Amino acid sequence: MSTRRKFLHSAALGSFGTLLTKRLAAATPQVAVTGRPVVISTWDTGLAANKGAWEVLSRNGTALDAVEAGVRITESEINCCVGLGANPDRDGHVTLDASIMDHQWNCGSVAFLERIKHPISVARRVMEKTPHVMLVGEGAQQFAIAEGFPLEPAGLSEDAKKAYKEWLKKSEYKPVINIENTKSGKEGHGPHNDLGASGPWAPQRLPNGDWNHDTIGMVAMDAAGNLSGSCTTSGMGFKMRGRLGDSPIIGAGLFVDNEVGAVTATGQGEDVIRICGSHSVVEYMRQGLSPENACKAAVEKIARIKKEKAKEIQVAFIAINKKGEVGAYALQKGFSYAIKNNSEEKMVEVKSFLP
Ligand code: ASP
Repeated sequence: MSTRRKFLHSAALGSFGTLLTKRLAAATPQVAVTGRPVVISTWDTGLAANKGAWEVLSRNGTALDAVEAGVRITESEINCCVGLGANPDRDGHVTLDASIMDHQWNCGSVAFLERIKHPISVARRVMEKTPHVMLVGEGAQQFAIAEGFPLEPAGLSEDAKKAYKEWLKKSEYKPVINIENTKSGKEGHGPHNDLGASGPWAPQRLPNGDWNHDTIGMVAMDAAGNLSGSCTTSGMGFKMRGRLGDSPIIGAGLFVDNEVGAVTATGQGEDVIRICGSHSVVEYMRQGLSPENACKAAVEKIARIKKEKAKEIQVAFIAINKKGEVGAYALQKGFSYAIKNNSEEKMVEVKSFLP
């Protein structure tokens, strides 16, 4: 950048620009060469989901089957931030979004789907059995029923009912900053740090009744070296009816380019969509950045766009490149992801842009 351009750039960013420049200078890539197969997924819920994916990968199954099987485990949790037990929208309905993508640019997604337990599997059917990429709302539900998915009873889980009742008192929509809970008492440390991969991993409700996060995103490389990814969510709790986040949008919440890498996102979906987040991370990897630095570049872009408002949101990306190296980066601290390969099964605490 020329000196004049540099000046204009930092003048426009103000104090946030100074922080950004310092952080760029301090970049220390933390590349884990993992070998294959390997699976990574967002948040502590990723530990259990990775086990499901690993059952497929360790039997020489495909990454596509693995990422579907893995996140179905999270979708099955009765009281969780993902799936039918999750918090409703502000009209009291749980609406689910999911997307899946394989190593050949095949992709499928569903959004605003109600009363179907496994949106990820419906997304896969959209990919495999329709000429489309995305089905939403009533049409997605009709398609799911036609494909043999049971229509589950309407209504909320007991916990979601309580949370919704509480929320109705103020009826204020304010997205939360997603961080993993701090049971261990150490700021930014989830229970996994004390208890290891076998410890409890349940997501926690925040004082306002919302979950600390609402999504699981998973990307995997199979023994043949092919990549796939999945992402499934109930979206932000108490959102406007009809709101979609990044998770069902290919290129935003999920993107796979088998020549380069696979990426998924979590956090404030609106801001991930703004920059086509997961696609951007893949493109940064194509330019030669490590998975961690590619995720970091996308987070920094969001921070630049949001300026002071970056403090109010969380956004994080996880990525695998074609060599089987993995990495992640978050806007706020408190984000972690789960990794499983032949030699390790653990949570990794992720570096963040903001202190
Ligand atoms: N990205 C999701 C959404 O905006 C939420 C999350 O990751 O927790 O719907």
